[in-house]
Amino acid sequence: MSYTCHFCEHESESAHSVTVYEGDGGSEERLELLCDECYEDWLLSLKG
Ligand SMILES: [Zn+2]
Repeated sequence: MSYTCHFCEHESESAHSVTVYEGDGGSEERLELLCDECYEDWLLSLKG
């Protein structure tokens, strides 16, 4: 089973589920699946 990454839309064998915030001021919380690369980028973006 493979997953489609939310950010790059590539298929990935290993998916990481993350919480992303959308909508006004990030008021909407959603679970999305990310591939390894995007997950690392996402982690870095959290640290700023
Ligand atoms: Zn990706």
